[in-house]
Amino acid sequence: MVLVAGQDYPNTYREFVAMFPDNPACAAYLMHLRWPDGFICPTCKTRSTPWNESRGRIACPACRHQTSITGNIPQEIQYLNNLTQLYLNDNKLTGNIPSGIGSLIHLTDIYLCGNQLTGSIPNEIGNLENLKLLYLGWNLLSEDIPDTIRYLTKLERLNLGGNKLTGDVLWIVDLTNLTYLILERNQLTGNIPSGIGGLKNLEILTFAYNKLIGAIPYQIGNIPNLRELHLSSNQLSGNIPSSIGELSKLRVLKLYENRLTGAIPSEIGQLTNLLFIDIDSNQLTGRVPDQTINLTKLYDNQNNFCGNYLFTDNQIVRDFLNLKQIGGDWESCQIEPCIGDLEGNDNDVDGADLSVLANDPSLIELEILAANFGRTDCMNY
Ligand SMILES: [Zn+2]
Repeated sequence: MVLVAGQDYPNTYREFVAMFPDNPACAAYLMHLRWPDGFICPTCKTRSTPWNESRGRIACPACRHQTSITGNIPQEIQYLNNLTQLYLNDNKLTGNIPSGIGSLIHLTDIYLCGNQLTGSIPNEIGNLENLKLLYLGWNLLSEDIPDTIRYLTKLERLNLGGNKLTGDVLWIVDLTNLTYLILERNQLTGNIPSGIGGLKNLEILTFAYNKLIGAIPYQIGNIPNLRELHLSSNQLSGNIPSSIGELSKLRVLKLYENRLTGAIPSEIGQLTNLLFIDIDSNQLTGRVPDQTINLTKLYDNQNNFCGNYLFTDNQIVRDFLNLKQIGGDWESCQIEPCIGDLEGNDNDVDGADLSVLANDPSLIELEILAANFGRTDCMNY
C-alpha cells in the first residue's frame, strides 16, 4: 500500500485507534510515508532493514548513518483531538508550529525541542490549559513570546531556550507551578518581575544570554527550592540582593557578564550547598565577605570571581578563593578602577562631575587621571 501524507489519514477516532495503536505503529506509518518500498539509506543508498536507535532515530546497518523524521508539522495535526502527548523532539522538522495545535486541548506534554522550527510561537498555544510540559527549545523560533502563554497555569516545565525569541518575561509570574524555567539564549528584554518570588516550586531558573535589564529582584530569595540560578550575560544592574542567602538549596549561581555593582552581600556565606559560583565581569566592589569561606562545597579550581573590583585583607579568605578560582590567584584577575567607572556609581569621588572629561580635548589630563587609578586603558568601555 502506498500512503500519501495528509491524505491517508484516519477520519474518525475509531480509525485513528486502529491505525495508531502504539508508538511503533506511528513510527512505522512515518517510515512508510518516507520509504514506501522499504528503507533506503539517504547516505549510502543501501536498501536494508534499519536499526532502531535512541530518541526515535534509525541507523543504516551498512554505513551506520543515523536518520530521522524530516519535513513540516502539518496543520492537520489539529484533528488529533485526543492527543495527550506530542513527542517530535530531536528531528529535523522545519516550518512553523501550526496554529491548529491550539485545538488539542487534551495535550499535557509537547516536546518539539531540537528541530529547526521557524516563525513565532502561535497565540493559540494559550488554549492548551492542560499543558504541564512545553519544550520548544533549540529551534529557530522568533518574534515575541505570545502573551497567551500566561494562561498555561498548569505548566511545570517550560523550555524555550536557544531560539531568537523577543519580548519581556513578565508573564512568568502567572505560571506558579513551574519547576523548570529555561529561557536562556534568546533576545528577551525588560526586567525580571518581582513577582518571580511567587514561583515557589521553581528548582531551575535560567535567563542567561538575553538582554534583560534592571535589578535582580529581592523576592528571588522567596523561592525555597531553587537549585540553579543562571542570569549570566544580560545587562542586569544594581546589587546582588542579600536575600540570596535564603536560597539554602542553591547549588549553581551564575551571574557573570552583567553590570552588577556594590559589594557581595555577607549572606552569601549561607549558601552552604553551593557547588559553583561565577560572578566574572561585573562591577562588584569592596571587600569580599569573610563568610565566603563557609562555601565549603564549592568545587576546587572551577569557580570564577574575576573581572570585578574586589579585594580582601584576610589571608584565610585569600587562600580559600585562590583554591576555588579557575586557575588560582583570583586577585590578579581583578580589574582596577578606570575613569569610566568613576561616573555615576560606586567610587569615592565625592561630588566630582567627571562628565566634563567627555568634552575635554586634553588627552594629557585623561592620562594623568588614568595613571592615578593605576590603569591606562579601559578595555571594558
Ligand atoms: Zn548507509
